[in-house]
Amino acid sequence: MFALDDKLLALRGQAREWAGDFRAAALDVDRDPDGIGKHLDLPGVRFMSTLMIPPEYGHSPELIGGYRFHCSTALERTVLMEELAVGDAGLLLGAPGPSMSGVLVDVLGDTEQKQWYYDRLLAKPTWTFFGLTEPESGSDAAAMRTALVLGKDGAPSVLTGEKRYVGNASRAEMGVVLARHRSGPLGVTAVLLETALPGVFAEPIESLGMRGARISALRFESVEVPSNRVLGMHLPPTKRGMWAAVQVFDRLRSSVAAVALGIARAAYEYVLHNRALLTLSERDRLDRLGASIDCARELLHMAAAAVDYGRDGGQLASAAKARTCRLAEDVTVAACEFFGPGARVQHPLLDKLVRDARGVEFMEGTGNIQRLNVFHGLILGKRRSPSAPQVPVQTPR
Ligand SMILES: Cc1cc2nc3c(=O)[nH]c(=O)nc-3n(C[C@H](O)[C@H](O)[C@H](O)COP(=O)(O)OP(=O)(O)OC[C@H]3O[C@@H](n4cnc5c(N)ncnc54)[C@H](O)[C@@H]3O)c2cc1C
Repeated sequence: MFALDDKLLALRGQAREWAGDFRAAALDVDRDPDGIGKHLDLPGVRFMSTLMIPPEYGHSPELIGGYRFHCSTALERTVLMEELAVGDAGLLLGAPGPSMSGVLVDVLGDTEQKQWYYDRLLAKPTWTFFGLTEPESGSDAAAMRTALVLGKDGAPSVLTGEKRYVGNASRAEMGVVLARHRSGPLGVTAVLLETALPGVFAEPIESLGMRGARISALRFESVEVPSNRVLGMHLPPTKRGMWAAVQVFDRLRSSVAAVALGIARAAYEYVLHNRALLTLSERDRLDRLGASIDCARELLHMAAAAVDYGRDGGQLASAAKARTCRLAEDVTVAACEFFGPGARVQHPLLDKLVRDARGVEFMEGTGNIQRLNVFHGLILGKRRSPSAPQVPVQTPR
């Protein structure tokens, strides 16, 4: 068993409390994603809005149960995300804050770029976006066509192209965009982009699931990006572009897996609380669903700890993401069966959970892509046995 230490238990307890607020807002955010602004004062949403901003950039840590939290570790984030997603995955993913773009800025930004970016996030809750997927390239992200003509001697660079399904982009004031400045594996560069720049257009895309995340289409018409917003120019070419995007996925994949686990748990607990009299076989079926959720959590926590201790090339996190997304789809559909054929009409929350489970499958790589990653790692011998990583689970105060 993977036991959480006192610090992580304190975080889990606080997140459970915040999740109650998320649940109260869940159906409202699903019905009207543009009205999400009225939930910004919820303490859990506030916490998300500065999550992972390093203390050296002026961020005071949140004190929970006597412990300080920036949620800079993957294990902390998985514990937090599972609980908040039990409340509502839509509000969680639709919350303002650095999210994926923050990790890319952390990996690629120089000190001045980080200060500029974090100052804006600390000034007020600010939505950001991470623009990678395009109309013609999703899983095969390296096939992107969005073009960046790099400016010389301090001249602006020019960005032209389209991105698709980008979370929160139509609400965001700024974000990051990955674009090609030339062909080949080292030909991708990331820029920090303000949506107010001339030539940037963002429109929400209607979606069935994860409506709170307000996935959007972005269009760039010869956008002039100031030279000091091009990321990673102080780093060697091998440490920019796609390499940095992979770093983002490796650090955050266990968090997305935790969101999927939270959705599964929400459906399981819904049955537990709303079906008083279960037959023996129903009880047995529900228990098995609960046990599958607990097993998947073990894998997830192992994967997150492995990320934190650099013991995994991303394979465990990929396995956890594939497992929890599959589970979210299975458990949400199974939960409906406990309420008969009209379940999705009579139980709007269950209906929403089924839709959200489908949405999380596509985030940060579909199940097929995660399985490819796992087997690629096995072939390369990156991880020879599925045993637990030999890492301590105590986290510092
Ligand atoms: C809620 C949500 C939030 C999102 N947020 C963002 C965001 O913030 N930023 C962003 O850039 N993108 C975002 N996305 C987009 C997401 O990353 C893409 O949907 C995902 O990469 C899949 O791309 P695609 O939709 O083009 O599907 P495709 O890549 O066309 O895949 C379609 C199907 O083909 C399968 N497939 C594809 N390639 C292979 C292969 N090589 N082997 C086997 N099977 C394969 C896939 O598993 C899938 O079942 C978001 C999507 C959702 C649903």
